[in-house]
Amino acid sequence: MDTESTLKKIAENIHQCQKCELVHLRKKAVPGAGPANAEIMLIGEGPGFHENEQGLPFVGASGKFLTQLLNDCGLPRDTVFITNVVKCRPPSNRDPQEQELKACGAFLDKQIEAINPLIIITLGRFSMARYFENARISKIHGQAVWRDGRLIVPMYHPAAALHQPKLRSVIMHDFAQLKDLISIEKERLAVESAGENKEDDATQLSFF
Ligand code: URA
Repeated sequence: MDTESTLKKIAENIHQCQKCELVHLRKKAVPGAGPANAEIMLIGEGPGFHENEQGLPFVGASGKFLTQLLNDCGLPRDTVFITNVVKCRPPSNRDPQEQELKACGAFLDKQIEAINPLIIITLGRFSMARYFENARISKIHGQAVWRDGRLIVPMYHPAAALHQPKLRSVIMHDFAQLKDLISIEKERLAVESAGENKEDDATQLSFF
């Protein structure tokens, strides 16, 4: 199955999911949105009011800011894949609970596996916790690390800037680095594959 069909299948399964109690409260599940060949994947927390109405991620106030951040660093929103750690709205936008995170985790794992992005950007503490156990976002925001063959960049959730205006410039600064990070990651992959090709050449040469 190609990536697009795989993502569609995962989205279908999310729409039918009954694994936690959020199913009883949701209007629309929000599997995520973006191209199947996206190089960048952003992972937020969970749908809010507007996302629950529309079935799309980050379409409310924090989504507007996210779209601006992406545009400002030359990454139009329709070039990245955006999703959340939980796919249904927690009531009154409360924090997702352990059992909800667990139930939805398998969907997120499958989305990551299918898209295989160069870079994953975590937005806020719940997606950060998937990669950085016990870390504090105030200490590690914007600092990219290699994990399982890709760059993971922990970022503040865009909503943080709406609650604490002084974080706005911090978040904008973190996003401004993204273009450089993409170039670095692409260069690393090119060097890696050149190395592999050299090994292939060497292996081939040894046969003659
Ligand atoms: N906040 C999130 O974390 N995700 C959304 O989709 C919307 C707001």
